[in-house]
Amino acid sequence: MKETRYVFVTGGVTSSLGKGIISSSLAKLLQGWGFSVTIQKLDPYINIDPGTLNPYEHGECYVTEDGAETDLDLGHYERFSNTPTSQANNITTGRIYQSVINKERKGEFLGSTVQVIPHITDEIKRCIQILGNTGKYDFVITEIGGTVGDIESFPFIESIRQLRWELGNRCVTVHLTLVPYLSAAQELKTKPTQHSVKSLQEQGVQPDIIICRCEKHLSDSIKAKIALFCNVSKNAVIECMDAESIYDVPIAMMHEHLDEVILEKTNTPKPAKINIDEWMHFLERLHNPKHQVTVALVGKYVELTDAYKSIREAFIHGGVANETKVKIVSLHSEKINDENAAEMFAGVDGILVAPGFGNRGVEGKIAAIRYARENKVPFLGICLGMQCAVIEFARNVLGYKDANSAEMNPDTDYRVIDIMAEQKHIMNMGHTMRLGAYPCQLEKGSKLIEMYGSEMISERHRHRYEFNNKYLDEFQSHGLKVAGRNPDANLVEAVELEGHPWFVGVQFHPEYKSTVAKPHPLFTGFVKAMLEYEKKNKQ
Ligand code: GLN
Repeated sequence: MKETRYVFVTGGVTSSLGKGIISSSLAKLLQGWGFSVTIQKLDPYINIDPGTLNPYEHGECYVTEDGAETDLDLGHYERFSNTPTSQANNITTGRIYQSVINKERKGEFLGSTVQVIPHITDEIKRCIQILGNTGKYDFVITEIGGTVGDIESFPFIESIRQLRWELGNRCVTVHLTLVPYLSAAQELKTKPTQHSVKSLQEQGVQPDIIICRCEKHLSDSIKAKIALFCNVSKNAVIECMDAESIYDVPIAMMHEHLDEVILEKTNTPKPAKINIDEWMHFLERLHNPKHQVTVALVGKYVELTDAYKSIREAFIHGGVANETKVKIVSLHSEKINDENAAEMFAGVDGILVAPGFGNRGVEGKIAAIRYARENKVPFLGICLGMQCAVIEFARNVLGYKDANSAEMNPDTDYRVIDIMAEQKHIMNMGHTMRLGAYPCQLEKGSKLIEMYGSEMISERHRHRYEFNNKYLDEFQSHGLKVAGRNPDANLVEAVELEGHPWFVGVQFHPEYKSTVAKPHPLFTGFVKAMLEYEKKNKQ
């Protein structure tokens, strides 16, 4: 049983400073020292999970192995640490209250008034320690969403205050703030950081380490000033400059000795040597690509970089595996049609049609797929992207002009994508889809089995609708072949097009499982196919 140490990561001054990347980077460094680490996110909003939030509100919804719909930062945690997360790694205020209220209804607090302190804070503390109490981890890093001073995060900060008292030097608090540069004054300004630390102190929490996001280097005197005003040692004021890639941040933090300060402050004996050779090797390949390809990302949220976060990152990993820089051009599906497709896709080496929900933009996705199919452009369709590939094939090859998904047109005679039987009677929207990891058996002779190098795989799902097996034989005999199916339910999980260099549709989400240490074989394979297409086109 390990004696787990806890690292709390709070944020101040503004949101979007990158607490998720800092937490992930710290995890990577601690792993490099040989420690086992997990990262958890506490989100202050009242939704039970982000599954019902649209991407404008919250970016991508990230799905874990156990089917939790979670914050996109968990994607970073997995990509950096190469360790799967679970529901226990993402807790919201909604979930905390739900659990306390359920207990109240069961009579567990009979006779007492249920209050924020101690009932809500006890539940938060319990959730923070669930992962630590498994005995599996040397370190649990807990990222607190939002910014200190927000009304909604008070109970979380209060719980940290209590835990610091209970756990003593087994925990450490890291505060990430902004040190802005005022060009008129040509100066970095520490006042916002001072205010933000003060706000944390008012809530009874003294940060041990302050990480300063900045555009210019922090001089020694600025570091000394922050240390003096904020009650931290000077070596605990860490500079974090904007980096070229998020994957550079662990190294930047190592140069600032963040990992060593954490070990020192938690009284953790420092092992002999850190090993991050693999990470360095990845960075070297990332920054020195030998080739470049361009992929069109077709979706309806393309203007939001966070909406398809995992897909974008998976292209970076798959690119590095091929020593290739993958340039992503985002194309709004509502703007694509059969007439302009050739113009829209001029110069691209591959087309990815993104996952999604609802009717908006679907016809554009179908037009994009038709173009990829007819012009032999490498194509990957993910979830709704695969469903659209099936619809496109039914309409333009099988001749069912009215073919559709029951999601888009429940009245069509040709529901080639249909609602799953077990979904038909579900009324609630939250956590009611086919979620999480399911096994998939790959077809012998398929491209997929070659790429994965194994017959039985496991991939994560998030959908309500499925390929309609009623049409299976017709699709297969015309060339759209099943490449993978669920061995228990016989659901079609992957399709490939015969006679096309690389045309793959998957009902699951490969992007969730791609990490720096293990680039996903489908993305690696897709990039390789794009490289071949690009070479051929150049000749
Ligand atoms: N809307 C589709 C479904 O529910 C696809 C979902 C997705 O792309 N994640 O089946």
